[in-house]
Amino acid sequence: MKKYLQKILVLLTVVCFCTGCSRRPVKYQKTDTAMGTIVSQTIYMTGDAEAAEEVTAQVRVCIEELEQKYLSWRLESSEIYKINASAGNGQSMELSGLMTEVFDQCNKVYEASGGAFDFSMGSVARLWNIDSAAVHAESFVLPTQQQLTQALDLVGAENSGLDSSQITLPRGIQLDLGAVGKGIALDKVESVLQEHETVNGAVISVGGSVVTYGSKPDGSLWNVGIVDPFDTLRNIGILSLPGGCSVSTSGDYERYVEVDGVRYHHILDPATGRPADSGVKSVTILYSTEQEAKGLLSDALSTACFVLGVEDGLRLAESFGAEALFVDAQGEIYMTDGMSQFFCLSNAVK
Ligand code: AMP
Ligand code: MG
Repeated sequence: MKKYLQKILVLLTVVCFCTGCSRRPVKYQKTDTAMGTIVSQTIYMTGDAEAAEEVTAQVRVCIEELEQKYLSWRLESSEIYKINASAGNGQSMELSGLMTEVFDQCNKVYEASGGAFDFSMGSVARLWNIDSAAVHAESFVLPTQQQLTQALDLVGAENSGLDSSQITLPRGIQLDLGAVGKGIALDKVESVLQEHETVNGAVISVGGSVVTYGSKPDGSLWNVGIVDPFDTLRNIGILSLPGGCSVSTSGDYERYVEVDGVRYHHILDPATGRPADSGVKSVTILYSTEQEAKGLLSDALSTACFVLGVEDGLRLAESFGAEALFVDAQGEIYMTDGMSQFFCLSNAVK
C-alpha cells in the first residue's frame, strides 16, 4: 500500500511539473518592430516559454494587421489609403466599424482642441516628409511658403466630408492618423491580453505610447519612464502605475531633421503648417482610470497639447479627464495634480 501511494505521489509531481502546476507567473520579454517603431512587451504569465511566445506573437500580429488593414497611409491594402485615393472622385465610401469609431473619437479631440489636432493634415505632412528625412537627412527639402499655403488651404477635418460611417473626401485633402495609430494599437492589444487567462500582467509600448495591464506577482507598480527630451538616453522621471493605464508622449526628439541648427520635427501646427513652436519639448498624457478608447485619446491629446503649449494644453487635457505633464524649452516641468501622484523625478534632475 505504501509503495502504491509513493507511486501516485511521484506521478502527481511529474504531472504538475509538465503542466506547469506551479502557478506563479513568470516574466517574459520581447522586442519587435511594427508600425515603423519599436514594440516592447513585458508579460507576466503562467505557462511555458512557448505559450509566452504565442501571446507576444499575437500582440505583434494585432498591431501589424491594424496597420495593414486600416491605418497606414503608405500601404495600398489599408482603409486610410483607399479613402485618400478616393479624394475628389465624388463617391462616398462606407467606413468600417473600427474607422467610424476612430473618426468619432478624433473629431472630439479636433473640436475640443480648436483644430490643434487635425487628422486632415496629410498633404502638409507629406510636404515635410519628416519620417524619411529623420532617417535620410540628405533627402530633406524645406517646403516653400507657397506650397504650405496651398496645402493648408484644404486642411480642416470639418471639410473632410465625414458623415458618421461614410466619407466623401474632397480633392486635395489627405487624411493622416499618424498621431493616433499607436494609441489605437494599444487599445486593441489590451483586448488581446484579456483573451488570455494565463496573462496576469503586462506593460507594452509602441513607440511613445504605453499600456499597463493587470499586476505583477509581487504586487509592485509598473514603472514607465518619461524620456528627457534634452537627453533621450535618460529619463526625466518615472511614472509608477497600476494596471489599466494608458500613457502617451509626443516630443520634438522623436522624428526630426536639423538644418543649419534649426530642428524641424514631425508635430505640425495646423495654423501655420510648420513644426509646432509652442515652447514645449514634450508632453505626456496619462489615463489612470477606466476610459473608453484611452489609448487613442491619450495619443491624440499628447499631439494636440504639444501644438497648444502648456496653458491651453493643460486645460484641454483636464477637459478630457486626462493627466498631463509638459517639459518646456527651458526644461521646466508642469503637470496636473493627478499626474504628480504617479510621477517621481529622476535623481540627476532633482
Ligand atoms: P505623435 O508623435 O503622436 O504626436 O504624432 C505625430 C504624427 O501625427 C506625425 O508624424 C504626423 O503624421 C501626424 N501629425 C502631425 N501634426 C499633427 C497634428 N497637428 N494633428 C494631427 N496629426 C498630426
Ligand atoms: Mg499622438
